[in-house]
Amino acid sequence: MLPFKLLFHPGLTVDLGAHVFPAQKYRLVRDRLLEAGIADHGDFVAPHPASEQDLLRVHTPEYLRKLQQDEFSVRERIAMEVPWSRDLVQASWLAAGAATEAAGRAKRDGCAVVIGGGFHHAFPDHGEGFCLIHDVAVAVRALRAGGSLGRVAILDLDVHQGNGTASIFGDDPDTFTVSLHQEANYPVGKPPSRIDVGLPDGIGDSEYLAALEGPLAASLDFAPDLLFYLAGADPYEHDLLGGLGLTQDGLRERDRRVFEAARRAGVPVTVTLAGGYAAKTSDTVTIHVNTVLAAAQVFARADP
Ligand SMILES: [Zn+2]
Repeated sequence: MLPFKLLFHPGLTVDLGAHVFPAQKYRLVRDRLLEAGIADHGDFVAPHPASEQDLLRVHTPEYLRKLQQDEFSVRERIAMEVPWSRDLVQASWLAAGAATEAAGRAKRDGCAVVIGGGFHHAFPDHGEGFCLIHDVAVAVRALRAGGSLGRVAILDLDVHQGNGTASIFGDDPDTFTVSLHQEANYPVGKPPSRIDVGLPDGIGDSEYLAALEGPLAASLDFAPDLLFYLAGADPYEHDLLGGLGLTQDGLRERDRRVFEAARRAGVPVTVTLAGGYAAKTSDTVTIHVNTVLAAAQVFARADP
């Protein structure tokens, strides 16, 4: 049994047809965790979809209406990069609900992991790059509205810059946004996060881990009530949409350092999986499973 909960729902997996986004990865991660004996059924919690009220704390009513009714222009559809479906809308609502529930659980348990989410390219009024609803932003604002959250740090280690996150929290003094990404990659326009580290193409484990040190420390020095960690699998050397050179071991060490530092600082962590487009989907699954393992190893210990 894990020392924290995993938020999972079959509805997070959407059939996108032939698409570079392996949406089935969520189900595969769940299956691998069970098969490998890392988690048992009791470790999983099924989230509820986010409420309209919670979504409206981040997104415009006009955009939510368009999403529900599939009323997008050709240009908007191209930016989204995923085909609209009723299931996709439901999955987006569920991911936001999962992040919200995970945040509440992390505050109690020290950690919680969403087997999904990390939709950091979603903006208040439009979707981009496979991201329609900004799950983490919905969670932050929902918990704040409930009075149970003050300062927050968002540490985004997906290979792509967190443009939606940066835009949503650009003028929020209580939310510290960090993005460590490949500079010469999507998105073209990168609105400023509190800390942006634009990495050169092709760097490997040691350079990456060295670059992480300062931003990780800064995000915890902010003394947040909660750290949201976007544990993207796409800095991986064999990722089709990434251009960095991290190995699976390097990514696991990345995760370990994040959890270790947060634990030492007494800051609870909410994890979302974010991107992962390895040539072999099984590699993406392994990287995400390793994130859960790293968290289990750090948070299982009795003393920080
Ligand atoms: Zn990404």
